[in-house]
Amino acid sequence: MKTDPLFREDAYLREAEAIVAAIEPGGIVLDRTVFYPQGGGQPGDRGALVLDDGSRLAVANTVYGADRATILHVLADGAPLPALGARVLARIDWNLRFKRMRAHSALHLLTAVLPYPVTGGAVGEAEGRLDFDSGEAALDKGEIAEKLNALIGQDAAVRTRWISDDELVANPGLVKTMSVKPPTGTGRVRLVEIEGIDLQPCGGTHVLRTAEIGLAAVTGIEKKGRINRRVRIALSQSEA
Ligand SMILES: [Zn+2]
Repeated sequence: MKTDPLFREDAYLREAEAIVAAIEPGGIVLDRTVFYPQGGGQPGDRGALVLDDGSRLAVANTVYGADRATILHVLADGAPLPALGARVLARIDWNLRFKRMRAHSALHLLTAVLPYPVTGGAVGEAEGRLDFDSGEAALDKGEIAEKLNALIGQDAAVRTRWISDDELVANPGLVKTMSVKPPTGTGRVRLVEIEGIDLQPCGGTHVLRTAEIGLAAVTGIEKKGRINRRVRIALSQSEA
């Protein structure tokens, strides 16, 4: 069994019709979905499965199945189970997701501003953080924000493409995030390219143009270890 991950080719899909393919203890498996399962520092989507009779089953989280081939829609406490084989409209909480897309793309730009190994991170709602092994470098909030906003202002295109596991092994410099290794073993790895600025393996959802990120501020720089710094960013509302 496999769930077709529609968000991977089009992160802007807000809903899609699907069939209930399995009902597992961990959640509802659909044959296809727009729900992003938590991974790579990005939380799982929330939303609802809308049944033919109009009733809505709230989805509290989305995770991968044990084999990573299926995606589990974790229903909110107390939600009734759909019937196996039922047709549903899977609809994500788009406001939440778009805030995460903007934050995720902004964090990729941050790795271009601060070209140090990344040891951890988290995508939030219009905010996020990355931990860098920045050594003894002095990090300045204002300077980082200025550079980050200059990159956002370039309105660069964000594209995805796939390379083979072998190509990734031959180009280890592509992997900036030491704590979140790109999933290999399926034969191919997804790359997210921000035109002229950044290229790295990532399975997450991103905006199509950097201007959609909106204005960024650096809200904190914390010392996490002798050479490790946690940099927090926050985004102001965009028009989109
Ligand atoms: Zn990413």
